[in-house]
Amino acid sequence: MNDVLPSEIGAWHKLEGIARELFAAYAYREIRVPVVEHTALFKRSIGELTDIVQKEMFTFEDPSGDSLTLRPEATAGIVRAMITNGLLHNQKQRVWCAGPMFRHEKPQRGRFRQFHQLDVEAFGYAGPDIDAELIMLSARLLRQFGVERLELNLNSLGTPESRRGYREQLVKYFTAHKARLDADSLRRLEGNPLRILDSKNPELQDIIAGAPVLTEYLDEPSRQHFEGLCRHLDAVGIRYIVNPRLVRGLDYYTHTVFEWVTNELGSQGAVCSGGRYDGLVAQLGGKSTPAVGWALGQERLVELLKVQQGELPVESPDVYFVISGASAEAVGLTLAEKLRDALPGVAIETHCGGGSFKSQMKRADNSGALFALVLGDSEADKRVVGLKSLRVEAPQIEVAWQDAAAELKKRLAER
Ligand code: ATP
Ligand code: MG
Repeated sequence: MNDVLPSEIGAWHKLEGIARELFAAYAYREIRVPVVEHTALFKRSIGELTDIVQKEMFTFEDPSGDSLTLRPEATAGIVRAMITNGLLHNQKQRVWCAGPMFRHEKPQRGRFRQFHQLDVEAFGYAGPDIDAELIMLSARLLRQFGVERLELNLNSLGTPESRRGYREQLVKYFTAHKARLDADSLRRLEGNPLRILDSKNPELQDIIAGAPVLTEYLDEPSRQHFEGLCRHLDAVGIRYIVNPRLVRGLDYYTHTVFEWVTNELGSQGAVCSGGRYDGLVAQLGGKSTPAVGWALGQERLVELLKVQQGELPVESPDVYFVISGASAEAVGLTLAEKLRDALPGVAIETHCGGGSFKSQMKRADNSGALFALVLGDSEADKRVVGLKSLRVEAPQIEVAWQDAAAELKKRLAER
């Protein structure tokens, strides 16, 4: 579990700021759900035979003896909230949610035990148009954040009915190769053979490559849904790769599944994944409602930006206010307050705690601020303040207190 430090937070704020704007622009509204739920909710939704439920959940008993679990993902809790608050009665919903998720995985690059997701979900829409809209939203978000060279993998898992025939073929195929399967895959062969396709074990990749593909077993409605989605994506020019091996790690998906992947983060290459889960609402006790959504891993995306741009955006003040000497200290904070009144949105870091001009100017430089305001005793007596550009060579000028806000505003606008 990581600390996100002030030096790193700039990239997080950038990502969350863009996301917030785009969610609003697509008319998705925020929902906030608890970080703990009853353990049974995750078992029923994610699936008993998934890695998450079998080995990755932080589960504990609360003082009243209830089994609770720190949420490993957001969809289950959001669906629970939709049902318990009656939000799906003759209504459609487009929502988003952000926050920490918890999985007891082996920590490594891009894989942590507490990580953060941005989630988007749409309820009550059955057609491929909303699948396409959600993918367009994710594409725009990735583009605006500034990451490049991501590849969109797309597949259809079809309806549960069309999957049944496929499942039989798959069991037949993997049973014939039983001797070479690892323990995980043998376990999955019984309960959840599709998950074998998602194995990361390099020694299994050639067997997996030879397995029958689901695409050939899709029924007509599933095929039409998938083709509809592809047409919408083609129309807006979003490129994708149809990847028949993409099955995703949770049991509840139907029809569309997709993943944005990069090969620039080692083996943890999925940065945003999602799909359709038409059966889940009914499975959790609600009225049967089609649904689709995605989740984006914030740590991986921030890391990708760092890899691609070499550094992360840093949040610095706009102005560092140097205050040195007794008369200056007597009026410095009041002057800073007046400037903040006049300059909303401008970040002014006041020097607190005294010290020589030289040491304060050094701090001003290190703060990353664009300008220093300099108030010594002589300036205080004359009711002026020094204004110095810290990033470009230029002489320090003197400005009367009453003109300081306007002068700063002008200078900041020129930058
Ligand atoms: P992976 O195959 O890498 O384990 P997943 O299929 O388990 O991913 P999802 O459950 O779909 O992942 O979660 C959505 C996104 O959340 C992923 O695409 C990834 O970016 C991120 N994510 C998942 N697990 C972790 C983790 N342990 N640490 C950091 N990010 C994660
Ligand atoms: Mg996983």
